[in-house]
Amino acid sequence: MKYEDGAIRPDAINIQKLMDEHIQEFMDNGKLIGIAGLAVGSGGNLSMRVPGGMLVTSTGSALDDLRPNEIIFVAEANRDRVYFIGSKDPSSESINHWTIYKEMPEVKAIAHVNVGAKNDKNIPVTPEDIPYGTIELSYGMLTLFKTTNVIMLKNHGVVAIGQNLREATKLLVESADKDKPHILPLVRPLDQ
Ligand SMILES: [Zn+2]
Repeated sequence: MKYEDGAIRPDAINIQKLMDEHIQEFMDNGKLIGIAGLAVGSGGNLSMRVPGGMLVTSTGSALDDLRPNEIIFVAEANRDRVYFIGSKDPSSESINHWTIYKEMPEVKAIAHVNVGAKNDKNIPVTPEDIPYGTIELSYGMLTLFKTTNVIMLKNHGVVAIGQNLREATKLLVESADKDKPHILPLVRPLDQ
């Protein structure tokens, strides 16, 4: 399949296969986040590296109640655009997930909620309050991920990385404090 940017990527049939293969994993881990009290409104997202791109939860999806059409295939993301296949828009934080997969080949899954970190965990925090869904935030995240698998985005939430979705989710659940939900002020459109 040829995309607007000229690149060849997996065709729709293979993408559907990837989604079918992993949907249950997304739903199960989303439920764990819900049980831990960390699924705050529609905040947060899960993603997984797959051949040719990543699968990520859609924008506005509730992690503790994911539907099959809320897992979106992202084939490429950059400062300006996110190329995706799915019936909904991918998470507005897709660029952040994408950059981590691009720069950290060992990372296979990412879990994130808009909930603060537990005090006793000593989780590193990004130094500035950087708007979410921006490439600048991605760079801030990468700096912290050099030394740890779980970080806190200032005034925003916790992000955990792992070898698979269960590992990232488990780390997220251990690290985030359900009593510190962050309600983010605005949703940033994908194309800005
Ligand atoms: Zn967030």
